[in-house]
Amino acid sequence: MGMIEHTFESESDSTFELERAVEAVRHAVRALEPARLAGADAARLTAVAAEGERLLGAAKALLARRTDETRAWRGGRAASVEQWLAETSGCSEGAAREALVTAERVETLPETRDRLLDGRLSIGQAALVSAGAAVDPGAEAHLLRTATRSGMRGLRQEKERVVAAATDEEAAARRARRERHLRTWTNGPATHGTFSGPTEQVADLLDALEPLTRARFDEARRAGHKEPLEAYRFDALCTLVRQPGAGVATARRTKHIARVRVDLTALVRGRTEPGEVCEIPGVGPVPVAHAREVLSHGLLQLVITDGVDVRTVVSTTRHVPPPLKIAIAERDRTCKVRGCDCDRMLHRHHTEDFVRSQRTVYAELGNLCTRHHHLVHDEGYRIIDHHDGTWDLAAPDRAPPDTAAA
Ligand SMILES: [Zn+2]
Repeated sequence: MGMIEHTFESESDSTFELERAVEAVRHAVRALEPARLAGADAARLTAVAAEGERLLGAAKALLARRTDETRAWRGGRAASVEQWLAETSGCSEGAAREALVTAERVETLPETRDRLLDGRLSIGQAALVSAGAAVDPGAEAHLLRTATRSGMRGLRQEKERVVAAATDEEAAARRARRERHLRTWTNGPATHGTFSGPTEQVADLLDALEPLTRARFDEARRAGHKEPLEAYRFDALCTLVRQPGAGVATARRTKHIARVRVDLTALVRGRTEPGEVCEIPGVGPVPVAHAREVLSHGLLQLVITDGVDVRTVVSTTRHVPPPLKIAIAERDRTCKVRGCDCDRMLHRHHTEDFVRSQRTVYAELGNLCTRHHHLVHDEGYRIIDHHDGTWDLAAPDRAPPDTAAA
């Protein structure tokens, strides 16, 4: 008895601190009465809980990795460490595998590991950063910066860029072709599906749907309906099937031009190297061979970084000249609001009230998603420019209703 107590005491500081902390968390969670909290307190505590979740997620991943190394998970019914961790956590085996792989990868990435253990990075974010850094160690700092400025979607896209640039492009293209599929399964009255294929072909497909989707979206907004864009994209697909020429006709009217974003050095060399991109904007990485092929058709808008100094392009009307349009689309690939990754249906916004400045210039234009554009345009939100390419929005100070009436 005395011996056991002694062992417990001597190890307690480091080994059992986590157990005591979780016990304290359990008490705190039990004592919570969210319905009695003021909104601001609820918001603050949500952030506190999120930080706790990140910290415990990190602890879980690192401890599971040690459990895997020592094979201590064996002996129960689990057939693999992923299955054991999934059962222990109540998560999917995919999520368990991601945590284990991430814990292993951050062993050689001190900065990522440090942020993970500090509660600044979630295990999901660390998974993306470390997956990119695993193929291109030089990309770690850049991906960590992306993690602080973008949401998960933006970080995932950036990771995809890093991986694509560092991967054998021909082999990857062959695999994309080999693994192409369109699968469906029926569940009650709805049929679900997934598909995958070479990005340049999927981009063609999405391009054909884009004008029809936008038409459906505009039509619905006028009628006062709000459904997800994905719903209208489905409608667009049905329209295309019913009127086989519909997409082509619309595309011809709008003079379809293919866009590829590619580093000039990669275009000349014929493949990308770490740090370079070759992608269809808004869709994803494509082989340099595809860029060259599109180039040979003469229907390509090549976007070369710093090619034209667009900062000198000024228009004294609301009209946005084409070089400015491309430059804005390139600079603001997602909504400019910090943390918003939306890259679809973006609205070009004039920051300075055009009526006052009477000019359209690069620095005063920015892309906003539909929701943020609505806040600025209709709800009186102010734009705060961070001068690092991102904006924040500040809610208008509204006088309380009774003083406004007085
Ligand atoms: Zn937004």
